[in-house]
Amino acid sequence: MTAVLSMDAAAVRKPVRKIVLARSAGFCFGVRRAVQIAMQERKSRPTDSITTLGPVVHNEQVSADMRRSGIGCAPTLSEVEQGTVVMSAHGIAPAVRRDAEQRGLRIVDVTCPFVTKLHRSALELASKNYQIVLVGDPGHTEVKGVIGALADVGATASVIGSVEELAEIPLGKKVGIVSQTTQYATLFAAVTAAATLRAPDVRALNTVCGATEELQDAAIEMAKKVDVAIVVGGKQSANTRRLRELCAAQGIPAYHIETADEIDPRWIDGAEVIGLTAGASTPDAEIEKVARCLNHGELPPDWILTHPD
Ligand code: SF4
Repeated sequence: MTAVLSMDAAAVRKPVRKIVLARSAGFCFGVRRAVQIAMQERKSRPTDSITTLGPVVHNEQVSADMRRSGIGCAPTLSEVEQGTVVMSAHGIAPAVRRDAEQRGLRIVDVTCPFVTKLHRSALELASKNYQIVLVGDPGHTEVKGVIGALADVGATASVIGSVEELAEIPLGKKVGIVSQTTQYATLFAAVTAAATLRAPDVRALNTVCGATEELQDAAIEMAKKVDVAIVVGGKQSANTRRLRELCAAQGIPAYHIETADEIDPRWIDGAEVIGLTAGASTPDAEIEKVARCLNHGELPPDWILTHPD
C-alpha cells in the first residue's frame, strides 16, 4: 500500500512535459572531423607529446576529453616545446604555421574545409583588388586566421557585425564581402544589399557553412513549437550564442547552458513543451544529459539526435 502511494505521489510531483529536439543539433562535420583526427593522432602516437593550439573546438567538455586522453592545450606556440601541435578547426594564419615549422614542431592541421573555403574566397577577392568586408566577430579565432591570411598577401579586411557597422566604413568602388562560417546568412545578405547601394562593383561570396544554416533553420523551426528553449553549448561558442538569439527572436525565453546542472528549474516551471538544441561543437553526451535532466532522468521516448551535414 505504501509503495502504491509513493508511486502516485511521484507521478503527481512529475509535471507532464514534452521535449522537442531540433531536427538537427550538435556536432557538425568539421568539428567531428577535427576531434576524430586529434584522437587518432593520440592513438597512433601514444608516447609523443601532442598539444592543441588553443581549444580544437569551443567546448570545454571536448577539451576535458582531450586532456583525459593526454592531449595538452597551449594558448600560444611559445608554450609548445616539442612534438605535435594540432591546429584549430577554425583555421590558422599562415604566419602561425610558419612559426610552428620553424620551431620544429610536427603540425596536424584540422582546419574545417569550409573555413579553408573562406580563406580561399577572401584571398581571391584580395587578388582582384576588392576592398574586403568580413562579416564576423572581431577576435574570433576564425576571423583572426582570415585576417592573417590576408596580411600575408598585403591585404586587409574590415570586420563588421551589423549593417550599422558597415555604414561607418568608407567604401571604394570595388567591395568584396565574405562571412565567418557561423554567421547569420540573413546578416550576410543584408550587408551585401546595403553595400550594393553604396558601391558599383560588389562581389559577395557566401561563406556561411551549410551546417550552420541547417542548425539555425532547425532552431527557428523548433522554437516556434515550444514554450521555452534550452540551447546547449560552450560559453565561448559563437554559433551556440547565435542559436539562442534565434530562439529568443521567436518570442520565447531561451537559455544558453554548457552543462545540465546549469538548468534553473524556474526556467521550465509551468512549461508544457520544452525545446532543445545544441551548437556545432556540443558532444552528444552533453545534449543527452540535458534531455534526461529535463525529462525526469530519461531520454524522451522519441529521441533521435540528428547532426547537421
Ligand atoms: S560550423 Fe561549419 S565551418 Fe565550422 S567547423 Fe562546423 S562545418 Fe566547419
